[in-house]
Amino acid sequence: MTDFTYVVGTDGVATITWDVPGKSMNVMSLAGFAELSGFVDQALADAGVKGVVITSGKKDFAGGMDLNVIAKMKDDAGAEPARGLFEGVMAMHGILRKIERAGMDPKTLKGGKPIAAALPGTALGIGLELPLACHRIFAADNPKAKIGLPEIMVGIFPGAGGTTRLSRKLGAMAAAPFLLEGKLSDPKAAKAAGIIDEVVADPVAAARAWVLSATDADLVKPWDAKGYKMPGGAPYHPAGFMTFVGASAMVHGKTMGVYPAAKALLAAVYEGALVPFDTALKIEARWFTNVMMNPSSGAMIRSLFINKEALEKGANRPRVPDQSVQKLGVLGAGMMGAGIAYVAAQAGISVVLIDASQEAADKGKGYSEALLEKSVQRRKLSEEKKADVLGRITATTDYAVLEGCDLVVEAVFEDVGVKAGVTAKAEAVIPSSAVFATNTSTLPISHLAKASMRPEQFIGIHFFSPVDKMALVEIIRGKQTGDVAVAKALDFVRQIRKTPIVVNDARFFYANRCIIPYINEGIRMVAEGVNPVLIENAAKLVGMPLGPLQLVDETSIDLGVKIAKATKAAMGAEYPDGAVDEVLFWMADEGRLGKKANAGFYAYDPAGKRAGLWEGLAARYPEATEQPALGEVQHRLLFAQVLEAVRALEEGVLTDIREGDVGAILGWGFAPWSGGPFAWLDIIGAPRAVEICEGLEAAHGARFAAPALLREMAAKGQNFYGRFTAAKAA
Ligand code: NAD
Repeated sequence: MTDFTYVVGTDGVATITWDVPGKSMNVMSLAGFAELSGFVDQALADAGVKGVVITSGKKDFAGGMDLNVIAKMKDDAGAEPARGLFEGVMAMHGILRKIERAGMDPKTLKGGKPIAAALPGTALGIGLELPLACHRIFAADNPKAKIGLPEIMVGIFPGAGGTTRLSRKLGAMAAAPFLLEGKLSDPKAAKAAGIIDEVVADPVAAARAWVLSATDADLVKPWDAKGYKMPGGAPYHPAGFMTFVGASAMVHGKTMGVYPAAKALLAAVYEGALVPFDTALKIEARWFTNVMMNPSSGAMIRSLFINKEALEKGANRPRVPDQSVQKLGVLGAGMMGAGIAYVAAQAGISVVLIDASQEAADKGKGYSEALLEKSVQRRKLSEEKKADVLGRITATTDYAVLEGCDLVVEAVFEDVGVKAGVTAKAEAVIPSSAVFATNTSTLPISHLAKASMRPEQFIGIHFFSPVDKMALVEIIRGKQTGDVAVAKALDFVRQIRKTPIVVNDARFFYANRCIIPYINEGIRMVAEGVNPVLIENAAKLVGMPLGPLQLVDETSIDLGVKIAKATKAAMGAEYPDGAVDEVLFWMADEGRLGKKANAGFYAYDPAGKRAGLWEGLAARYPEATEQPALGEVQHRLLFAQVLEAVRALEEGVLTDIREGDVGAILGWGFAPWSGGPFAWLDIIGAPRAVEICEGLEAAHGARFAAPALLREMAAKGQNFYGRFTAAKAA
């Protein structure tokens, strides 16, 4: 294998070039690490080599550790995985520490060879941890380059010395945003923060020149020098004490204690700061092992990275030729239509934005203008680029302008008749090969397709609000939808850089189907006299971004009423939600329509800020004297969602559990630490899940009955990823 190459120049500088074959971005593997180590040994042993420059043969330095390797680390770590993991991580530390000490005498700190990192572009994760172990970091003046340690975003933390080195280099307080939030910077900002040393036009040339002129003193890291003190103070320093107390509270406030990596990171920094550097690395390795042993980290990496990327790359795309969108029609320039037009124009697609009046169409385009202007104000966008994007949107009432559109997305009122009208008008103009999509959130696609002349080219493309922020797009296949339409929708989602899932047509599709029971369970508990504060906090303490009552306030009570009425009409006698409707309809009658009305389950101040739960709730639904345990409330809220996901899988609405997990986290924020509903059920195991269902069913009713699939899996000793990954591969 040749991930690295080694060349010694006539000037005595050895260049180690990282260039993983067949990949556009370097990622580190265990074999790559061994190769790097061998070249470092070679350079240190060769008397003719004066120093080393480590650089990349690609436009970027590196994207990080190969997450596929990390995901498998635990399984590959042998009979005693914790020991195997720890030893593997320590071996990595050994290599990086060898670079850092560079052959110097451990007592006098003299005689080492200078090793500099030259970063042509992006340097993330191990791609920054390796440079941090070098003696000086030079980065190209490339504003597009991203520099940072984003590990925390996928449920781990920088475990190859990045945590220990960065906190010692910058101080715990200054390092916090980079370690705890995974903040990325461009090279100039990274230099200003003290992460890298120099931003230059030609980093390799600058690194070479530095290597040739470096003195013994230049190679000694502050933490290896006598009298090192952590910037900002170590934990027992008065200022440091304040930092750590504050950070601990902040981390807990943000993570609610459910993300093991954030806690472990903080512990590694705190404990590491009390001991010498090499012991700190050992502590970092122990905490890293602890996080890797927690099933949450593997589940997060699998859903938030590996499977998300697989879906974005078209894991479930039918094999038909490229269907990239050239000209998009958007019907309805309201909240959703305006957002769809914006993301499409941003992606370089020409957009025709239609509404019933010119004023409404212009207002929809105005939404893009306002967002773009904000970017200009923040100096993130030039006036020219803004004009470019806006120039791609034609706001009109004239359907004739839709001529030549290869995709139309309809986002008019949620009304079958109105939707049928615009479908017919658009199809009269667009090419016969064009695909027509609806952004409906509640109406069955197969029913709406009846208004289409070409139902095989009719599909659901369901966006989430706000369109420019939400990463998920749910693509819904109607009964007659053909493969080309699915590919078209997937290619469009790829163009606008969002993550797709493809589901079959059924009431509320997938995301709304699961989130509605969550909201309803919360409301049901209010009716039972469960303290609303307990309901909301139970949700947050289990990692839901919003409690069910806050969520319904945000989406609005009248929308809830509308959905409840429509569902009841459709389901007739099978409709289960009398208790929920009583609360919901009463709230609507009271004019408490949610956040938009400044009055809902929460009270709001005149500026629209939440000011605690509304007191009127307790007057109507007095608190029961006996309150349920926190765990019981959490199980109700989680099982309301995950059982619906399992049923969606049983019924064939979902055809891929990866989509079920990724869609849940990106679509409605399902406890990301769990990796999604199926990943979570795998963590607790089917037998335990069935047992919890039985308890909940006995206490609260048949909605918690364990689905047959779950029972079968419990009986057979199966888990979802085992069963369904094997089925996919077969
Ligand atoms: P909206 O009321 O903000 O916008 C609808 C727009 O359609 C209005 O500007 C209206 O003037 C226009 N319109 C109505 N009839 C028209 C016609 N015959 N021809 C042209 N334009 C017409 O609604 P919205 O929130 O943007 O929702 C639009 C669609 O998206 C609905 O189907 C809704 O269910 C769905 N949706 C909404 C959300 C959400 O969070 N709001 C999320 C996903 C999907």
